[in-house]
Amino acid sequence: MEKFSYSKISMFMECPKKFYWRYVEHLRPKKKSPALALGSCMAYSLATFRRTGSQDEARQAFVDRWEEEGRILQKTKDDDPLRSVARGLEILSEYMQTFPDDPKNFIRPEVSFEDEIAPGILFRGRLDGVVRLDDGSVAVNEDKTASQWGDSYFRRLHGSFQIMWYLWIAKKLGLFSLDGKATPKCLVRVIYIHRERYRFPSDLIIKSGKQVDDSFNDLMNWVKLIQRCVSENHFPRGDANACLKYGGCDYLPLRDASRRLKDSLIKYEFERKDGDEDENGS
Ligand code: SF4
Repeated sequence: MEKFSYSKISMFMECPKKFYWRYVEHLRPKKKSPALALGSCMAYSLATFRRTGSQDEARQAFVDRWEEEGRILQKTKDDDPLRSVARGLEILSEYMQTFPDDPKNFIRPEVSFEDEIAPGILFRGRLDGVVRLDDGSVAVNEDKTASQWGDSYFRRLHGSFQIMWYLWIAKKLGLFSLDGKATPKCLVRVIYIHRERYRFPSDLIIKSGKQVDDSFNDLMNWVKLIQRCVSENHFPRGDANACLKYGGCDYLPLRDASRRLKDSLIKYEFERKDGDEDENGS
């Protein structure tokens, strides 16, 4: 079985060369970036809060994750005012006070899925939860940890492959039928990372069953394109902007390095890990 996830496909969309390093050579940087590490601690602690209803357990989950992942984040705000453990815990506490009913409203916090969507093709990943909305209907939830947001951020997400494919798989798994109406809905919540302010804007994305079903064709077209590039060993570089996005691509040091330097970088800065697990564990 070949395994695909949204993260895997989106990496190919962003830069086929990056896909090559990650999924063909199986190279991963030894250290996660602080942005990824904070997102991971936040996701883990939110899932704990929604599952147990305990704010103390959620804070402990944040710290546990930080330790498990090798203490990538700095400890104090003096060391890093934006992405430190101290600032992360403050934002988490504020979130739990703003949404105290999350544990009641989340019918299922965290839904991992792995489904054979075509012969020999598994689609896998993780939804942040299934939530009951104020009107009694049901939506899947997607949390985003972001340092920038605005109307354009939400507009981009509305028709994004990620949201469409998550709606598609949730529909296929019958998650929306929990309210008897089965309308595909996704509640997007942004956890805004700022050194002083707190903001948790949200948006509800509603699609028709047909729109969601049609997105499956896009998913399969990307799968076929990736399969073709892998069989032809063809991995062109993406747009140069991708190299510097989000603080720089993990593989940027390898980009123009000589053969010798590349070998040495791979030896000391990366580790080879077989398997297709994504950064978010899906
Ligand atoms: S550094 Fe740029 S070209 Fe190289 S893998 Fe990363 S995004 Fe692609």
